[in-house]
Amino acid sequence: MLNQSKRAAELRSLLNQAAHAYYVLDAPTMENTVYDCLYRELLNLEQNDSSLLSPDSPTQRVGGSPAERFTSVKHRIGLLSLDNAFNYDDLKAWNQRLLRALNLPLGSPLEVVSELKIDGNALALSYRQGVIERAATRGDGQQGEEITANVCTISSIPLRLQIDQPPDWVEVRGEAFIPDAAFTAINAEREARGEALFANPRNACAGTLRQLDPKVVSARRLDFFAYTLHLPSSQRLASQWEALNWLERAGFRVNPNRALCPDLMSINSFSVQWEQKRHVLPYATDGVVAKLNSLALQDKAGCTQKSPRWAIALKFPAQEVPSRLLRIAVQVGRTGVITPVAEFEPVNLAGTNVSRATLHNANRLAELDLHINDTVVVRKAGEIIPEVVTVLAKLRPPNAEIACLPNSCPECGSLLVRGKNEAATRCVNNSCPAILRGALIHWVSKSALDVDGLGIKLIEQLVYQGLAHSVADLYRLNSTLLSGLEHIGKRSAINLIKALEKSKQQPWHRQLYGLGIHHIGEVNAKVLAAEFPSIEELQTAAITDPERILNLRGIGSEISEDLRQWLKNPNNQRLLNELKSVGLTLRVTDKEKINDLNHSISNGPLLSKTFAITGTLPSLSRSAAKELIQAAGGKVSSSINKTTNYLVAGKEAGKKLSKAKNLGITVLDEASLQDLLNKPHSINEHPDL
Ligand code: NAD
Repeated sequence: MLNQSKRAAELRSLLNQAAHAYYVLDAPTMENTVYDCLYRELLNLEQNDSSLLSPDSPTQRVGGSPAERFTSVKHRIGLLSLDNAFNYDDLKAWNQRLLRALNLPLGSPLEVVSELKIDGNALALSYRQGVIERAATRGDGQQGEEITANVCTISSIPLRLQIDQPPDWVEVRGEAFIPDAAFTAINAEREARGEALFANPRNACAGTLRQLDPKVVSARRLDFFAYTLHLPSSQRLASQWEALNWLERAGFRVNPNRALCPDLMSINSFSVQWEQKRHVLPYATDGVVAKLNSLALQDKAGCTQKSPRWAIALKFPAQEVPSRLLRIAVQVGRTGVITPVAEFEPVNLAGTNVSRATLHNANRLAELDLHINDTVVVRKAGEIIPEVVTVLAKLRPPNAEIACLPNSCPECGSLLVRGKNEAATRCVNNSCPAILRGALIHWVSKSALDVDGLGIKLIEQLVYQGLAHSVADLYRLNSTLLSGLEHIGKRSAINLIKALEKSKQQPWHRQLYGLGIHHIGEVNAKVLAAEFPSIEELQTAAITDPERILNLRGIGSEISEDLRQWLKNPNNQRLLNELKSVGLTLRVTDKEKINDLNHSISNGPLLSKTFAITGTLPSLSRSAAKELIQAAGGKVSSSINKTTNYLVAGKEAGKKLSKAKNLGITVLDEASLQDLLNKPHSINEHPDL
């Protein structure tokens, strides 16, 4: 109990500070989705134990207080916030609460209007006899800031309603926002003047609306979508849908992307559809607002202190959320590199459940200053592998144990090594079972030798029972040896031997890729195989004519040096001889055509992705990073625009970084780039192996 009350107090303090930064300073200190999750945690604590509720809790307030430099005005009708839903279950729960409030049986149909949730700032506009009289911010929901002069500069807000015989008074609510293009231009100007950049269009809009000089507001090209209409009771309309059409007729911009939804499924599919399409819109949206269509039923359902019961904001899946760090696991890769992995309480990120995230290396671990049971912020943007972005140290429990890498390899016990100026910590024991296991998994993977029926569990048995000391040993297996292993029947054993035999016919470039040489991915293997039709020719060139390798597409000095070192190593030479002795060709066969190979070189994990690079990366030079991207099929451009997929940013990143943030382009550090380049390979796992 004591812990819960402490946690509630810490959450209150952290959330109040974040809300001040967000609402008052227009400079948020955390992602909205992180704020939303912590807010929900606090709400749950308060709901389970009402003694934890205190008047200063952010759950008791709408928005921020009005700023003192503007006149504070009381809203004619309160301007509330919205309750949030984060998934279909939340949507169902909202529907049930609503039916209860309306005294309707569960399952009764309710027609709902789904609208886009514009990520801007709510405005209350008051019209008298059809002419704008006053405009105010939401403020605390009851009192807002009077900003009429500023709002009148927004050209999509009619100063006079375009209808005959307008009602005595009209109250319109809607969202002021800054379109993406205007936001990019504002930040570019601020950067040129050496001023702090706005974190996002919403904060830029809030800051602009509170400018004292309307000329500044006018220059910032704000826009406005209207979504709520209040009319005198004698002229009330029947539905939200009609209200939106009325607003359009009166001269307001109303977002065209709206739908009448007969049930929850259609609200959900509207949301899923816009979650995917929202990036084509020239302004920011962060979800969908579902509103009961009948205004009479809205009145009946009423409001809580903070939000109407008849509406809910269904937020788009989060890319960044908090979780609790449980432990640090350590992975040993096939090259011996040690990767610390954070294991945390499962969370839903960008639509998938996630409970592990790479921490890349010891530097990153130290930089984050992780402690067990810390509240960490985890991110997964698009196809990027999940990562721990930061730690909320204010929420750290007392006496929390610091998280660090072990001194010895968790698989073989040998001391781990870290070279001077190297980010990676390695196990350098050549016979470490983890390294061998990784090499075998890579060799049999789909893109390499594609051996059907050899899954991870079977590979582990081969390694730990001493049946495979190298990939060549796989070809020495026979039914008798396999029969001693668990979960493999006679038939599977025969099939596996056949699959291994068949894999000897795989083309030369796949064999080369399967060797797992540092930086020789699928594309580079094809490039090399097309130029050097056998391992012998490649070996000779590496020693006598390295220039020939260097001139190949996508292969620069760093990759060619790695290749040379690998080929020179006596252990690797022994492996190549063994592979030949068990029947691998390690050369182009008659059936393979070099032309076909050249055609297929345009494939790679980063095919059709465009990158830009800025700043100094911790270990790769810019040209080495470029080489690696190109080798994986990606393009590297010297400038960025909306079509750029990723910006790789290092220390002292230039203007490209702010531009990328404005355009919503995914920013990668070096470690995340490496992750993208080394995406895990699928292997042909047999269900029972
Ligand atoms: P909200 O932004 O989640 O939702 C309510 C608002 O949605 C309304 O007030 C309105 O302005 C807007 N809206 C947009 N389109 C709409 C439409 N079609 N119909 C109706 N309303 C529409 O709630 P809020 O109270 O404005 O702000 C709370 C949110 O602010 C939190 O959930 C959090 O995401 C964010 N916040 C973030 C931080 C931070 O540190 N990052 C701090 C405080 C609050």
